Amino acid sequence: MKQIISVVAPAYNEEDVVEKFYYKITSTLLQITNYDYEICIVNDGSTDKTVDICHELLVKDDHISFVSLSRNYGHEIAVAAGMDHAKGDVVILMDIDLQDTPDIIPQMIFKYEEGYDVVNAKRKSRDGETWLKKFTAEMFYKVFSASSGKVKMPRNVGNYRLISRRAVDAFKELRETHRFARGLFCWVGFPTTEIEFEREARIAGKTKYNYKTMINYAIEGLTSFTTAPLRWATYIGVITAILAVLYMIYVFYMAITGNPSLQKGWSSMMIIILLFGSLQMIFLGIMGEYLGRIFDETKNRPLYFIQEYTTKFDKKKIKKENN
Ligand code: UDP
Ligand code: MG
Repeated sequence: MKQIISVVAPAYNEEDVVEKFYYKITSTLLQITNYDYEICIVNDGSTDKTVDICHELLVKDDHISFVSLSRNYGHEIAVAAGMDHAKGDVVILMDIDLQDTPDIIPQMIFKYEEGYDVVNAKRKSRDGETWLKKFTAEMFYKVFSASSGKVKMPRNVGNYRLISRRAVDAFKELRETHRFARGLFCWVGFPTTEIEFEREARIAGKTKYNYKTMINYAIEGLTSFTTAPLRWATYIGVITAILAVLYMIYVFYMAITGNPSLQKGWSSMMIIILLFGSLQMIFLGIMGEYLGRIFDETKNRPLYFIQEYTTKFDKKKIKKENN
């Protein structure tokens, strides 16, 4: 029996690209003749025609599976839903906007056949991105790799990757609410390799990520993989405490020697108050980050609810779940 490739693609308001994606991915998958395939589109609460277009595709093609979430949960949760529903022996996770070019899928499959469980698609260049985005991405990798201990995250790898069934099953066991998929795939381990590709520009539609969401995403990524910032807070706290004690000794010395410059102390006082005030705010913020995460995780909510799951793929029958 042929093995099955499941392509998982989350879509949020992608009416301009769904169909183009479908044709392009289908033509690629048809060339890989020794595998059967499923195209699993996850609708992440789109408010445009994405759902209608997917329904049309469902009628047209038995290879389509369609998971529709009850609202917009965000890219990471959509990825989780897609991984939960993909039936393939091997899953390829990619964005629906064709920035992740399907042309390298045969190469990925080749690596899979060599025995790799995870094949990351690494962006060769980040041309077309602003220097600020490149710079912040670089900083993020530096900070992440310096603080995340044993989990080594490859650079310039997004969500585009191939994952074997056993790695998918491992990934599915990680049910945390705050998710950072590319880190989770590293965390589960298994033999991993990467292949390079040129990331294309979006074929149509707009990116859903702006600087605010990027910054939030970076904070998510860091705080879900490391408690190092708490440690840094402690270090900085200790260092500033030592400096403060030294300064106290200096002030005390001036006081007992009756140094006239003591009256000028207002500015140094202000500096110290401001410095410690801001440090406290920063550390409170860091504590708050983690406290918030503990709060969210202890709620133990399901990651998402499904509004519709239609698949004609398996056994050629339509299965509908409404909850
Ligand atoms: N996406 C999603 N839910 C969201 C935002 C984005 O499922 O809330 C999907 C989107 O449809 C696309 C992928 O995630 O398939 C990546 O989004 P986008 O292309 O906007 O990000 P970029 O490539 O600019 O980083
Ligand atoms: Mg994109």
